[in-house]
Amino acid sequence: MSANETSLREQIAYFGRSIFERGLTAGSSGNISVRLDDGWLMTPTNCCLGNLDPVEISRLDQQGNLLSGQPPSKEFFLHEAFLNRRPHDRVIVHLHSTYSTAVACLPDVDPMDVLPPLTPYSVMRFGKVALTPYRRPGDKRLGDDIAKVAADYRAVLLSNHGPIVAAKTLEAAVYAIEELEETAKLFILLQGLRPRLLTQDQVDELNQVFVAKEADDGKSCC
Ligand SMILES: [Zn+2]
Repeated sequence: MSANETSLREQIAYFGRSIFERGLTAGSSGNISVRLDDGWLMTPTNCCLGNLDPVEISRLDQQGNLLSGQPPSKEFFLHEAFLNRRPHDRVIVHLHSTYSTAVACLPDVDPMDVLPPLTPYSVMRFGKVALTPYRRPGDKRLGDDIAKVAADYRAVLLSNHGPIVAAKTLEAAVYAIEELEETAKLFILLQGLRPRLLTQDQVDELNQVFVAKEADDGKSCC
């Protein structure tokens, strides 16, 4: 095993525990994957993100066949569908976190732009959010739904299910899904009120100053 793969396994366990301990996932829900040059690392099925053993993380080949470790999460096909359309990203984090899932249950949202631009950080970390139709867990059409929007969105809500985010690094993916959860929380808190949203000019400025710059130099915005 390469030093890079060993480090990635340790990072998956570290971020999994961090997510779990702050209540962003419960029980055995939630999963994390990293695409390697010759396959995938994926959190195992029925595992708790708070108690991951780096050695037991599923190691898959490029076709998704298990090479070592525990069997992968049954939601691996979602990760594959997302990253196959995002060649520059390498990491997927998927949770069933409370506020993002609450938004994913609301009837009157625009499925191509679910969350309004409430804060600069939502624009910087994940941008516009898509909503896919409800499917039962394991329904392979979920992968098709994600594939349809994957090229244009870094963050997607699965109806009545939860959020899924793609990014270049584990840190960026975890920060993005945390920011998504905080933005969803604000959105729920502001239901029935009339919050002042960022204007299109303000969103454009953020994209110009932070998002384009990050793509250029690979660094985080804050
Ligand atoms: Zn799920």
